[in-house]
Amino acid sequence: MKELDDNMRLTSQRQVIIEELEKVKSHPTANEIYDMVRKRLPRIGLGTVYRNLELLAGKGIIKKLEVGGEQKRFDGDTSPHYHIRCVECGRVEDIFIERPKGLEKSAASCCSYKILDHHVQFSGICSHCLPDA
Ligand SMILES: [Zn+2]
Ligand SMILES: [Zn+2]
Repeated sequence: MKELDDNMRLTSQRQVIIEELEKVKSHPTANEIYDMVRKRLPRIGLGTVYRNLELLAGKGIIKKLEVGGEQKRFDGDTSPHYHIRCVECGRVEDIFIERPKGLEKSAASCCSYKILDHHVQFSGICSHCLPDA
């Protein structure tokens, strides 16, 4: 019975991490996800959260973001979209604009790689950080 409990606990930990990540649009860091998950699973460890995030990102279930900032961020939305980062407060938001169709083709024609993906990161100052006009 003990083994079964452990298995179920593992599965539900992973499930809770996915659920919490999908709830927010803030592209949280591992530490922020840990704080969110801990409200539901008070005994979960930071290391477990880190490991599960890496594992889920490796499987493509969640996305690890390639954005500036000193900490990795995660996204529950794996659909192709761009991000913008506020240089003042560091918040990262989604930008759903059309991805230039020729871009990956042009890149492919310049090198011998098979292009899989590309990332564009915009930076700016968010409406919260802009001084009132
Ligand atoms: Zn800001
Ligand atoms: Zn996103």
